Amino acid sequence: MGPKALKRKAPDTNEMPADAKLPGPEHAGGPSASPPSEITSFRGDYNFLSNFFHSPIVYDGLEFPTVEHAFQAAKCLDQASKLKLLNCNSPTIAKRVGRKVSLRPDWERVKMDIMHDILALKFAPNSQLGNLLLATGNAELIEGNAWHDNVWGSCVCPKHKNSPGQNKLGKLIMGVRDELRSGEKPSSASNV
Ligand SMILES: [Zn+2]
Repeated sequence: MGPKALKRKAPDTNEMPADAKLPGPEHAGGPSASPPSEITSFRGDYNFLSNFFHSPIVYDGLEFPTVEHAFQAAKCLDQASKLKLLNCNSPTIAKRVGRKVSLRPDWERVKMDIMHDILALKFAPNSQLGNLLLATGNAELIEGNAWHDNVWGSCVCPKHKNSPGQNKLGKLIMGVRDELRSGEKPSSASNV
């Protein structure tokens, strides 16, 4: 195999909306532009990393508008509650409604696996979001927040900023990124 010249195009502006055109599928595992060493906010350019980002996902036979909707619905076993969560008008509402559902008995044991599975559907191989995630390279992903969530992310309020959060969401997304990367095949081999 000859070396493949990677063309790197400088973006025209600093803005890269989540629905921006992606670099071609040619990039061979490396980031197409130098990603930062860490991404500590899932806003702006990295809004697509947020569980609230619109990203239709089919999970458990239902199509959810966001990861948050799917995750909240996974808490319950009865279809009526799942549908109620599915039909919440926003992920914010789904999160709120999800606090009041009766949890499936094994929820605490399975919830991390479920979050992983939903994230893997969101960042599917060769999907736009999967490619955007790959383009973050080896950046440490941390959902910095001001809402005191030191479990899924890391709160940066004056009270919490000196005690780093557990960053469970960031770790799961980085895990999915590793899976995407290891599953990547050279584009020349996949089309034979
Ligand atoms: Zn805080």
